[in-house]
Amino acid sequence: MNSLLLTGGRVIDPANRFDAVAELLIVQGRIAALGPDAAKQAPADAEKLDAKGRVVCPGLIDPHVHLREPGQTAKETIATGTAAAARGGFTSVVCMPNTSPAIDNAGTVALIRERADRSGAVNVFITGAITKDIAGEELAPIGSLKRAGVVAITDDGHCVQNNELMRRALEYARMFDLPVLDHCQDYSLVSDGVGHEGYWSATLGLRGWPAAGEEMIVARNIQLAELTGAHVHCQHLSAAGGVRLIREAKKRGVPVSGEACPHHFVLTDAAIAGSEKFWSNDGKGVFGYKNGVANKPVWPAYDTNFKMNPPLRSARDREAIIEGIVDGAVEVLGSDHAPHCDYEKEVEFDYAPFGITGLETGLALSLMQLYHTGLLGLPDIIAKFTVAPAALLRLAKGTLGVGADADVTVLDPDREWVFRKKETASKSFNSPFYGWRLKGKACATIVNGKVVWREQ
Ligand SMILES: [Zn+2]
Repeated sequence: MNSLLLTGGRVIDPANRFDAVAELLIVQGRIAALGPDAAKQAPADAEKLDAKGRVVCPGLIDPHVHLREPGQTAKETIATGTAAAARGGFTSVVCMPNTSPAIDNAGTVALIRERADRSGAVNVFITGAITKDIAGEELAPIGSLKRAGVVAITDDGHCVQNNELMRRALEYARMFDLPVLDHCQDYSLVSDGVGHEGYWSATLGLRGWPAAGEEMIVARNIQLAELTGAHVHCQHLSAAGGVRLIREAKKRGVPVSGEACPHHFVLTDAAIAGSEKFWSNDGKGVFGYKNGVANKPVWPAYDTNFKMNPPLRSARDREAIIEGIVDGAVEVLGSDHAPHCDYEKEVEFDYAPFGITGLETGLALSLMQLYHTGLLGLPDIIAKFTVAPAALLRLAKGTLGVGADADVTVLDPDREWVFRKKETASKSFNSPFYGWRLKGKACATIVNGKVVWREQ
């Protein structure tokens, strides 16, 4: 019998409010027992994994990943993207539909499902487009996408500008019981902005991407969620105003939710001015880098690995995102893992594509800013990576309940390590965090009872 016994770890399962040192038994790809009985029930030939001093939790879920397949496999493939996920402690990823062709029909969903089954290291859940070719003009066949198995619809990378079309999309989504994930960007306000509109964009001569360009669409989504009853999830919130709007709307019972990415609650727009400017100002708000730490990471001004959409914002916005995560206005964390080739990023700031990789650093950065700072306990953070995204996307994941799929992450929240290029499993290297001293790391990643990655 195919079985695995994890011994001696602190098992944290927020879905079942369980937090204690315990054994966890996996048999035939399912959780078989947790607690004192687990070791007794283990078959004699069960493989053992010593988790002493580590945390054992439901497999982490990343609700926002760009796997780039089909069509952009020079940047990433399902195989390399899911390998990076496994290294980062993620047992499930949710891939975005802005591939080429876009995931706007059942055939493309089937193609990705087939490739993910063949070459994926972790579970891949698929989102479909809201509009055909993500062009924002005509609705995609939402019913047939649902039948093909998408877990949500989104035009991520783009944003439906026509409010009437978005209303119709929400009505269909509600009919088919699908959440709508939205990349909140008002095109008329943002125009060709490349960095947060504020002190640094003015100082550096960059075209501004105002916070209002995000907040306007968050507000629109709240109105339409209220009107239609459909659930709208605002992706990668970067601005204080967006968090405030969602907090207020949730209090009124509007079906909306929010997501934050580690780069938005670690970095600020000062990073675009170079490392010296960052560390002497906003860098003091990064856990572990508060005081005169030697060996701070160094980068030049206009480094395109600090260019993302939405952009890095002010220290005040960073604080508001953290407040939102702590008080629950923002319930889900996602990486927005967005790989790009070196040659694409090695151009002037204006011309570089938006986005950074994030699967391998997300857990550490979240633990640093939220747990090591004392703001949240481990169960609360783990909930945002497990039970919360599972609830949002209605995945039968995120729990260690007996009978559940045996997706498990073993992590060491106190492990200090440095993120190095040579250890990257992603095909792309557009991360601003190379050379950073991080705290907290996945040690083993178990998908359907199989160890798909473990630290050597
Ligand atoms: Zn996006």
